[in-house]
Order: sequence, then C-alpha cells, then structure tokens
Amino acid sequence: MGEGLDRSARTYVAGHRGLVGGAVFRHLQSDGFTDVVGRTSKELDLRDRAAVDAFFDEQRPAYVVLAAAKVGGILANDTYPADFLSDNVRIQVNVLDAAARTGVQKVLFLGSSCIYPKFAPQPIREDSLLTGVLEPTNDAYAIAKIAGVLQVQALRRQHGLPYVSAMPTNLYGPGDNFDLKGSHVLPALIRKVHEAKLRGDREYVVWGTGTPRREFLHVEDLARATVALLERYDDPAPINVGVGEDVTIRELAETVADVVGFDGEIVFDTSKPDGTPRKLLDVSRIHALGWKAEIALRDGIASTYQWFLEHHADARGL
Ligand code: GDP
Repeated sequence: MGEGLDRSARTYVAGHRGLVGGAVFRHLQSDGFTDVVGRTSKELDLRDRAAVDAFFDEQRPAYVVLAAAKVGGILANDTYPADFLSDNVRIQVNVLDAAARTGVQKVLFLGSSCIYPKFAPQPIREDSLLTGVLEPTNDAYAIAKIAGVLQVQALRRQHGLPYVSAMPTNLYGPGDNFDLKGSHVLPALIRKVHEAKLRGDREYVVWGTGTPRREFLHVEDLARATVALLERYDDPAPINVGVGEDVTIRELAETVADVVGFDGEIVFDTSKPDGTPRKLLDVSRIHALGWKAEIALRDGIASTYQWFLEHHADARGL
C-alpha cells in the first residue's frame, strides 16, 4: 500500500465517540480525509453481527480504524472480566470478518500494552507477546485483544490482506472517562485532586503503593501515529505506540496535584491492587517509521485538566 492513502476514500472509525476513536476521527478530518464515518453505539451495536454486516454492506469503507472496545481501569477489569472478554471478542470478530468479506483495503486494529506478559523484560518489545503469564487483574481483556492480534495475522496469512495491529500504552486526553470506579489512573487522579481542592481537604487518596510505573501517551499523539501506520506499516507483528519513558504512580500523583494547584498530602490506600509493576513499551520500531510522541506529560495533564473544567457537567462518569 505504501505512502499512498486515498484521502477521499471512505474511512470508518469504529468507536469514534471514545477517547481514542474521537481523537482519531478529528485527526483524520484535519489531515485531509474527506469521507470519515462513525456510528454511535446506539446507532450500531458492534457486538451484533447482523448489524455490523449490514453496515459494511451499505457503507463499504476502504479503510477501517478499529478503536471500539470495552475498556476500563484496574477495578473495572477486575470486577467484570466476563463482560470485557465477551464484548471485545464479539466487536473484533464482527468488524474484522466484515472488513475482510467486503474488501476493506486496510484495517488498523488497536489493542493495548496489557497484552504483554506481566513480567516481560522492560522496555517491552513486540516479540514478548505470548512468552509468559498475564497480569491477572486484566487477563480477560488481554486475552480478547490477543485474539484480535491473532485474527489480524490469520487474515494476512489466509487471505493476503495487509491488515495491521498497534499496541498503544496507557492513553489519556480530552474525552476521557472520569468515573472513579471505571476509569484509568490519570483521569481518576485529576478528578480526585480537583474535588479535594474544592472541598479544602488536607489529603487525597491514591490506590496501591504508588510504586508501580506507567507510561502515558496523549491521544492526539496516538491519532498522528494512526495515520502514519495506515500509510507506512505492513507487517504481521503488532507495533508498540508509546512515549519511551514512564513515571511512578507517586510521581504522577504529585504532578497532577501540582498542575491542579493542590498542596495537601498524598495518602496511599494499599487495600487496592497495584496491578502489573511496570509496562514500559520499547518504541524503537515505530520511531524507525518516523513517528515520535510530542506532547510532554505535564503539558498533556494541564490541557486535559482544562478540558475537564470546561466539560465538567457532561464529562462521562460525572
Ligand atoms: P492498569 O494500568 O491496567 O493497572 O490500570 P489503571 O490505570 O487503572 O491503574 C494504574 C495504577 O494506578 C495501578 O497501580 C492503580 O492501583 C493505580 N491507581 C492509583 N490511584 C488510582 C485511582 O484512583 N484509579 C485507578 N484506576 N488507578 C489508580
């Protein structure tokens, strides 16, 4: 396929109302794609095979970015493993089967860094996939995403289709989920610090020990990577998309407090799980393709906090 994406060809972003799909949708439009389509989950339930088949028969997209998934933070994954497995497998199988059947030229399937083994050597290279046991708090989600990677590889092998998978690290940005039970750590901390500041609390509570390390990528950086990968990546192996640097949860908690302007104490609730100790991605392969993350963590937290303030009333989970 090479460099030549046809920017007037129909491009379907599955999950375009989500954190990732929303950023991808906006980026494609600003990058000159003139026929970008999306459907809300009310309009099209991607778990419903007949509905997905009918949508692809009618719309006939040329390119698909598969950013639709049931996602959540450590507690949600640990509490609803059956939903995470079933919803994600159905979404992926339906979309990938329909894409292959209707002749979609290129699909980019988005997974997550939690597909890698819990104790993979750090930074995690793409070839650590399936070399060890998974982190138990999100193994159901991880197995679903691994099935998606395998399906992409199988479609390449059996049908010669140039479909690819990318594995982003922990993502954040405008449009994130700020629900304290379901969200990931970064939006949760923004909301907790903001509310602690408003109430005039002397402390705010962070789950776990504060020692796990995590890498955070702004969704707008991921959206740029998406176009680069559609254009330039054609390989069966999933490709990592990350920053190449990580921070401890304690450091993250301090930065969020600093950005929001809260000078109380940070208290660790060690009855909550830490999850995997570290998941820093090796990003040398995507760097070799000419893409690099650009948004510094502190700047990204500041702009996400600004978005949170402006959309407080209608932010998901509030
Ligand atoms: P993970 O990367 O799959 O483990 O998912 P999360 O983003 O939910 O959690 C990352 C780390 O942040 C874990 O060690 C959590 O225990 C920790 N953490 C600290 N405070 C919070 C919080 O308020 N919400 C969430 N989701 N995680 C928190």
